[in-house]
Amino acid sequence: MNNTKSIGILGGTFNPIHIGHTLPAQSVAKSLALDKLILLPASMPPHKEQPTISAQHRAKMVELVCKDSTIFECDTRELNRDGHSYTLDTLKELNAVYPEQILYFIMGMDSLLTFTTWHKYQEILSLCHIVVTTRPGHPFHHSKKTSVETDDLLSQHRVKTSQACKKKKSGCIIFSQDLNVQDSPLLDISSTDIRSLLNKAPISRECTRFMHKNVLAYIKKHQLYR
Ligand code: ATP
Repeated sequence: MNNTKSIGILGGTFNPIHIGHTLPAQSVAKSLALDKLILLPASMPPHKEQPTISAQHRAKMVELVCKDSTIFECDTRELNRDGHSYTLDTLKELNAVYPEQILYFIMGMDSLLTFTTWHKYQEILSLCHIVVTTRPGHPFHHSKKTSVETDDLLSQHRVKTSQACKKKKSGCIIFSQDLNVQDSPLLDISSTDIRSLLNKAPISRECTRFMHKNVLAYIKKHQLYR
């Protein structure tokens, strides 16, 4: 019997996973009282720098973070799919697994800026709500950084309270700053930065600051990103 009521989903290449992924998601989970946060390691999209490490290593590091947490769960379905992997297909599958639950797809502001280029993005919004977390370097300047399509999307779907999301099963876009998220620090870090730090030197204080301990130990053990 599945008693979970609301589920957060965070997709990413997680190459490697860092606290810029997990802390904002945890704050959103707290604020929306989510029962579970699914971390979805993605296949490497063609526009991203191809990884120097395998998808199995990326997934393993996500699993290590989940092992230490009561809320995170790793879901590797996108890595196991043949051919193109679309977020839409994943959400359709997750909706079939969790038909009664509200799904909140969490993404950073940088991802929202490209969302209208995603495969059938309107259909994605018919299956979940979207929570946008702030990210340093990607402030929300209405109409300045956003495209006409994104402006239209926001004027149709943006809500400013969590109550508005809870009244519907899908179709709302909410910004973390409207969620009363109290303890979400702005973390100026990306996996690209971490790969570059790891490539230059052995694990530094900077890496330790932004990464989960057991993930760093895994990177060290398998000599990744060197
Ligand atoms: P890369 O540098 O390799 O492009 P990344 O660190 O941006 O990777 P992804 O795995 O592509 O990480 O990101 C997954 C999701 O996490 C995206 O929605 C992204 O916006 C969000 N995210 C990543 N880093 C941060 C951060 N520091 N603060 C807030 N959101 C973040």
